[in-house]
Amino acid sequence: MTVNQICSKLLLVLFLIGSTAALGFAQKPKERPPRKVSQSSHARETMSAEARELVERAIEVTCTERRRDPKGSVPIDDMQGRPSLPVRSGEAVAGAERAQRLLPLAKELVIESITKLASEYKFSSTSARRNLQRATQRVRMVKRIKPDMDSRDNASVLMRNPVTITFGTIFLAGLPSDEAMISVLSHELVHIADGDHDALLQLYRAVGNRASALTGLDVREQRAEELTCDLVGAMAAREFVANTPDYTPLPRRVSRVIAHNCVTEDEGDEDHLSPRNTIRALLSLDPTLARDLVYGRYESKQQ
Ligand SMILES: [Zn+2]
Repeated sequence: MTVNQICSKLLLVLFLIGSTAALGFAQKPKERPPRKVSQSSHARETMSAEARELVERAIEVTCTERRRDPKGSVPIDDMQGRPSLPVRSGEAVAGAERAQRLLPLAKELVIESITKLASEYKFSSTSARRNLQRATQRVRMVKRIKPDMDSRDNASVLMRNPVTITFGTIFLAGLPSDEAMISVLSHELVHIADGDHDALLQLYRAVGNRASALTGLDVREQRAEELTCDLVGAMAAREFVANTPDYTPLPRRVSRVIAHNCVTEDEGDEDHLSPRNTIRALLSLDPTLARDLVYGRYESKQQ
């Protein structure tokens, strides 16, 4: 099992149980129509040498902060090697309570971030607006976090009844900050938003095309969906940080948004960029995050 096959593993389990379409931290089991080349002006964008250097420095900051931070996330390859954790263990209970407490806020931040992305990519047609509305409605339906020992380092959603996000207890315990939890909750909420009717397919393709152009990585099909989920998660968690300034240095708080990808075994697969390339792609798509990590100060404290 490679690091990032969290969803694939989970889907297999759920299909064996009842063949209900499901989503988790990674993927959906369906055929996509052939990919069209995006007409977006973003598609041919490239990065300067300075911009690439900034991204690489920001990755270093992220993973250095993770090691020093008392609330640093556990890298997802490390999570995979840990023993199962009972639902009633202190760490799992704390994680489940944090997730449940942050769910309403994550829902609002996801809706805000998806709307912002749709606007940035100029999705303004009637069908695009209808899809966005559907996506928003589905996010609003989610009500509950269910901790589950057997899910270990996975999170998942049953698409037939998408009101509950099932979270493995190792995953809950491995994300001890609000920033990390909002980021990961938001990732799952984007899968839910997409739903059974590909409401966000156009957005996935646009984000994937842009990431491919910027980084030279191959970001298509399922990889584009996963990266978009991560991008919305990062945007949502960054907005949370902006709205809740405190005495923790900004780079440390921003690092928590993506630091679970600071793996040692950096393996990807057909459906996922490797975790470290995921960070690279996210910081390339959202250079504000990279600047926050390298130079960041709270705006309100500069005045
Ligand atoms: Zn996912």
